[in-house]
Amino acid sequence: MADKVYNFGAGPAMLPVPVMEQIRDEFLDYHGMGVSVIEISHRSQEFGEILAEAKRLFRELANVPENYRILFLHGGARMQFSALPMNLAGRTSSKKCLYIESGNFAGLAIKDAAPYGDIRVIASSASSNFDRLPTVSLAAIEQDASYLHLTSNNTLFGTQWPDFPKTGSVPLIADQTSEILSRKIDYSRFGMIYAGLQKNLGPSGMAVAVIRDDLLGFASDQTPLLLNYATCAKDDSLTNTTNTFAIYVVKLVLQWLKNEGGVTAIEARNRAKAAQLYAQIDSSGFYLGFAQPDSRSLMNVTFNLPSADLEKKFLDEALARGLYGLPGHRSVGGVRASIYNPMPLAGVEKLIAFMREFEQRNG
Ligand SMILES: *Cc1c(COP(=O)(O)O)cnc(C)c1O
Repeated sequence: MADKVYNFGAGPAMLPVPVMEQIRDEFLDYHGMGVSVIEISHRSQEFGEILAEAKRLFRELANVPENYRILFLHGGARMQFSALPMNLAGRTSSKKCLYIESGNFAGLAIKDAAPYGDIRVIASSASSNFDRLPTVSLAAIEQDASYLHLTSNNTLFGTQWPDFPKTGSVPLIADQTSEILSRKIDYSRFGMIYAGLQKNLGPSGMAVAVIRDDLLGFASDQTPLLLNYATCAKDDSLTNTTNTFAIYVVKLVLQWLKNEGGVTAIEARNRAKAAQLYAQIDSSGFYLGFAQPDSRSLMNVTFNLPSADLEKKFLDEALARGLYGLPGHRSVGGVRASIYNPMPLAGVEKLIAFMREFEQRNG
């Protein structure tokens, strides 16, 4: 058998092997029904149980307070870049929507929101090519704003908020796509958290959102029905035919996470993985970490080599060794190791061993 391949791709990203095995094993006959889970009605009792269990597990694992709703939304994370201002700019008469620009996706969220409110960027780290998080002062957060949006983990650049800015009474909204359920987060500090599924939770094309009850009901009249969070909450994410297969996979991933010991255990493992990888980078002098140390991500570890030629050689040889998905995004170049929840420590150790050996031969 060929060497085991570890998938360091940024997204769609690796899923836990036991989850994919269970999907395979019950794919043609879901729980003795004689039909596949992918071909049953979204209104069937069996799918209803899957949806309820996915929400129940999410609430339990993330410790989501009772006054927050869990929604499954169409269109992935980016659809929320538009849906969010459509739903929430009208929360205040100012229609001011505050944004922190900390990376590529933060920039797209700002761009996509432009038609729907008075969009204001209150902090940015663009001038250092997003190698750090911008500083945000409470004084910069106008209290008559409808919300403040940030990207909690910046997937391309490999930075992550270790803690979140205080916003006063302005609801804090976080795009957590590339870190959802990877560490303990106090949901009560947020008005809403949303995430595309494809990095820590399941297949691409959908998002999960956790939204506080009192933020529902401010959507503009032009909001498409399927993007209206209040409608989605009222219909329990079943206004139309949802992506039943994606929600089924999410339920299995959440069961896997619970079996692994939940968020506390996975956070400890995630911290250990990242610490080992950053230690290897810092001790070498050959590899150069991209993110400033106090802004470093536990999920996406970005680094460069001394030359573009060496980076190409590194990536080619890594791929041949079964280290898949390591090329960095074109805006950063170099290497990006995405080490989401399902990545085992053994995968990170294999990458580190290769880095040592490559440096010895080329350093
Ligand atoms: C991947 C990613 C997105 C884009 O998700 P889509 O589901 O493709 O829209 C948005 N935000 C962040 C932080 C991401 O990592």
